[in-house]
Amino acid sequence: MLRTIVIASKNNGKIGEIKDMLSDLPIEILSLNHYPNAPDVEENGRTFLENALIKARAIVDFTGVPVLADDSGLEVDHLRGGPGIFSARYAGADATDGENNQKLLLALKNVPAPQRGASFRCVLALCFPNGDYRTFEGHWRGMIGDELCGGHGFGYDPLFYLPEIGKTVAEITATEKNKRSHRSQAVHELKKYLQRNLYPEKKTEIGA
Ligand code: IMP
Repeated sequence: MLRTIVIASKNNGKIGEIKDMLSDLPIEILSLNHYPNAPDVEENGRTFLENALIKARAIVDFTGVPVLADDSGLEVDHLRGGPGIFSARYAGADATDGENNQKLLLALKNVPAPQRGASFRCVLALCFPNGDYRTFEGHWRGMIGDELCGGHGFGYDPLFYLPEIGKTVAEITATEKNKRSHRSQAVHELKKYLQRNLYPEKKTEIGA
């Protein structure tokens, strides 16, 4: 029976978000903050899925307990899916969010609204010590604005415009974001899997 999951992250925002969503399940959620000597894992995969699996497998080998890892980023239609897995380092290895956003604005200069579609994507990988794994995905559709708007969130939030509510993600609250975001959709799928497997009268054993 699954009792503990280690989140392969030291990002307290991300850890808190996942913990909150899973808080009503009888599972202890730890993170890399509980394993200060865990290895730094190079994310050298070609897709979000590969990167999430690389991270999760390396940390399973170290901890010996089930590990949840995520990878996420922005895919812009006009950039044929870029910056994708390079979202955090779009403007360079140590680029700030501001630098990444400015580079994106420049890349889409004069591109008309109908061609400014984009998606945030998140992939979660849950890996077990016996080598089994499950993956879960979330996908959030929007558009790239032509100026930065709003002060909430992080990364590309001030440029990611949601036509259905007429605001960027940086203009909505964290609670509103967590109801819709790519990450919360993926965690929701993970939660359904855990619920099915935690309550054996409803489904099979965990990892099955
Ligand atoms: P990571 O999955 O935390 O490594 O995130 C990769 C990069 O994708 C981040 O540094 C951001 O640039 C971008 N990104 C991922 N999720 C979001 C989001 O919810 N809002 C804004 N940017 C995001």
